[in-house]
Amino acid sequence: MSYINPRWFNFGPRNIAIDLGTANTLIYQRGSGIVLNEPSVVAIETINGIKRIKAVGEEAKKMMGKAPTNIEVIRPLRDGVIAEFELAEAMIKHFIQKVNGTKSLLRYQEIVICVPSGSTQVERRAIRDAASNSGASQVFLILEPMAAAIGADMPVTEAFGSMLVDIGGGTTEVAVLSLHSLAYSVSVRIGGDKMDDAIVSYVRRQHNLLIGEATAERIKKEYGIASMPTDDLGGSIQIKGRDLVNGFPKEITITQSEIAEALSEPIGAIVEGVRVVLENIAPELAADIVDQGFVLTGGGAMIRGLDCHLARTTGLSVSVANNPLRCVALGIGRAMEDPAYRGALISM
Ligand code: ADP
Ligand code: MG
Repeated sequence: MSYINPRWFNFGPRNIAIDLGTANTLIYQRGSGIVLNEPSVVAIETINGIKRIKAVGEEAKKMMGKAPTNIEVIRPLRDGVIAEFELAEAMIKHFIQKVNGTKSLLRYQEIVICVPSGSTQVERRAIRDAASNSGASQVFLILEPMAAAIGADMPVTEAFGSMLVDIGGGTTEVAVLSLHSLAYSVSVRIGGDKMDDAIVSYVRRQHNLLIGEATAERIKKEYGIASMPTDDLGGSIQIKGRDLVNGFPKEITITQSEIAEALSEPIGAIVEGVRVVLENIAPELAADIVDQGFVLTGGGAMIRGLDCHLARTTGLSVSVANNPLRCVALGIGRAMEDPAYRGALISM
């Protein structure tokens, strides 16, 4: 892997930037901004033993938990890396074609795509190959926390420690950036998905009710809260699922403080990741972070009270970026367009 000299290439008008997230894929097109934002989900149908892609993105996500047995709904990047290489590639191709508005792939398209900071060389190559097999003549990679920080307008090109916590579906990336690079980072394989799982198991354990992943995600988005509400129980929430005792569909009521309790473990793991980074950075960078605090990005940043919870546990100031779900895509786009950030692009 080598860092490229920005003078070696010139991005033309057909270039795109891809935020290939575990939960959502966003595509940024040079000159147009974000042109696609869809769940990273693929539905595969098997007919007479032959598999074919039934749906991709939004359409496939709607089938989650509701598809007949011959349709499998898969998230190819589930745990922060490409778990299903061929499907990931098919998904990227599908999204690029959708953006291009043509069945045939445009050639000579240069693509900048982000990779998790904790990814191995093999994983990075897999992501690069998926993009180049999608018709790109050249692929550049960018580290996800770097892209998120650029998207959140942090001064990553300066000799100043900027700290960022990006909470995605499969992973949480905690990083300190300075002078175009990562001074220190930790990638925790805990994010929004584990929060959904935690809600599913809490409701099963405490209320003998089986709920699906999509229901758990909806509850998290609407009522998710990082610590116990001050008016002790918080709001009450109706949840529908299947009664594990008699097997019938049923509706129950739970409180928001129960959601806080359910989420305490995954949120605790995120706090732990933040602590590890703070303990391991150089003192000069730590001093910058005392002054500036840190920024939250990614969908998980929108859990109510998470910023306050992190501020309380670390004693630092914490803020949520504008547009936390779009930060990475905007950052990759800016890194592609603005020569000041090109030092952040990696060619391999
Ligand atoms: P990735 O980069 O891994 O694709 P994203 O940054 O797109 O992830 O975030 C997706 C995650 O954020 C999902 O787990 C989703 O449920 C969660 N999320 C989205 N909106 C909210 C919200 N308002 N509150 C809590 N979590 C949210
Ligand atoms: Mg992301």
